[in-house]
Amino acid sequence: MSTTQRPRSEALYAEALAHIVGGVNSPSRSFKAVGGGAPVFMKRAKGAHFWDVDDNRYIDYLCAYGPIIAGHAHPHITEAITAAAANGTLYGTPTELEITLARMLKEAIPSLDKVRFVNSGTEAVMTTIRVARAYTKRSKIIKFAGCYHGHSDLVLVAAGSGPSTLGIPDSAGVPVSIANEVITVPFNDLDGLRTALDTFGEDVAAVMVEPIVGNFGMVMPKPGFLEGLCTMTREAGALVIYDEVISAFRFHYGSAQTYAAFPDHSAVEPDLTALGKIIGGGLPIGAYGGRKAVMEQVAPLGPAYQAGTMAGNPASISAGIACLEVLREPGVYERMDAQAARLADALQSSADRHGIPLTINRIRGSFSAHFCDHPVTNYDEAQNTDGERFARFFRLMLDQGVCLAPSKYEAWFLTTAHTDDDIDATIAAAEQAFAAMKD
Ligand code: PMP
Repeated sequence: MSTTQRPRSEALYAEALAHIVGGVNSPSRSFKAVGGGAPVFMKRAKGAHFWDVDDNRYIDYLCAYGPIIAGHAHPHITEAITAAAANGTLYGTPTELEITLARMLKEAIPSLDKVRFVNSGTEAVMTTIRVARAYTKRSKIIKFAGCYHGHSDLVLVAAGSGPSTLGIPDSAGVPVSIANEVITVPFNDLDGLRTALDTFGEDVAAVMVEPIVGNFGMVMPKPGFLEGLCTMTREAGALVIYDEVISAFRFHYGSAQTYAAFPDHSAVEPDLTALGKIIGGGLPIGAYGGRKAVMEQVAPLGPAYQAGTMAGNPASISAGIACLEVLREPGVYERMDAQAARLADALQSSADRHGIPLTINRIRGSFSAHFCDHPVTNYDEAQNTDGERFARFFRLMLDQGVCLAPSKYEAWFLTTAHTDDDIDATIAAAEQAFAAMKD
C-alpha cells in the first residue's frame, strides 16, 4: 500500500501552533478525533481533487464539510466570483444580485416567503431562534441530541438527563442560565418530544431540528417523525425551525422539506429555515427565511434586531447564484446519486468480505459509514460505534490519497466533479484499508 509523506504539512503545523490557536481555524480540522498529529495542509484544489503542500494528490470526500458540491474551482462559479470581485467586493448598499438569489431560494423552497442573508450557518440559526422568540414571546428551545447548529450559546447545550429536564452547557463559557433555556431530546423520538412539550409547552418558542441529519452521520427521519414534530409543536403554540445548512440543495434541487421522501410537503413545512454552505458556492454565507408574518419580526420591519456589514456581499451572492445554476442542470443529482450508490455498495461488500462491521446510511450523493453492526438512527447509536477503527481507516485512506473528514460523525460528500475513475480508485483504496485493518 502506498504511504504518502507529509513533511511540509508537519512543519507548517508546528509553525501554525505557534500563531493560531490549536493550529487550526476550526476545531473540526484538527486530527484530535483520529489520534492527533499534523492535519494535512492543502494548497490547491480542482474538481474532486486537492493537492497538499508536499504535492500529494487526494480525492476529496470532505468537500469543505458540505459547500463544495460542484467540485473545487468550478469554472462557472470561479467566473462569477472573479466578475464580482472586479466590480468591487462590498458596497454596504442593496444590490440586484441579492434579489436574484433570494428568488432562486424561494422558488426551490416554497416555505420561504421572505429571506435575509447573513454570513454563516451559525448566524442563520442563531437569528432564527431570536425571531422565533420575538414572534412567540416565549424563551425556551427544544433541540435534538447530536444535531449541530453552529456555535452560538443556545445550541451548544447538551441533553439533560431526559426530555423533561433542562440542558447542560456543552462548552465552557455558555452560562447555565442559557442552558436552562434549552431542552434536548433524542432524534427520531416523538415520545421524547411529547414529554418535553408537555413539561415546558407554554414556554417553548421553537423546536429546532436538522430535518435530515448531517452531523452524526447522515440520518433520515423515521417515517412520520417530521410530520409528528410539526403537528405537536404547532399544537403547543411553538414554531418549527429547520436547520437546513447541510441538507438544502444537497440531495436534490431544493431542501429536505421538499424532498421526495416526504410526498406531502405541506405536512413537513417549517415556520423558519436556516441555510448556508451550498447556497454560497464555496464563499461565506448563511441565510434564514420563513413565513411572512414571522419574518416581519425582523428589523427594520419589526422589533427583532439582526444586521451584518458583510451580509449579502456580491462575491458570496454571485458564487451562490452560479452554484445553484450548476445544480439546476438536468441529471446532476442523479449522477451523484449513482456514483455514491456504487461507492457505498462497494464499501459495504468489501467490509463484509473482510468481516468488518460497517453500517452505511446513504441519502443520494452523501453517506456516512459507521463502524458498527447496528442501525444508526440517533446520536446514541452513532456514538456507540468504533472510533478507533474509524481512525485507522481514515489514516489508511489518507495515505492512499483519499481524504475523508477526520471524525467518525462526518459524512462523505460526492460532487458533480467526481469521476468513475475517482470512485474506482476509492473502492480500491478501501479494499486495501479493510484488508490491513483485519490484522
Ligand atoms: N447547522 C448545521 C446543520 C451545520 O452542519 C453547520 C456547520 N457544519 C452549521 C449549522 C454552522 O454553519 P457555519 O459553520 O457556517 O457557521
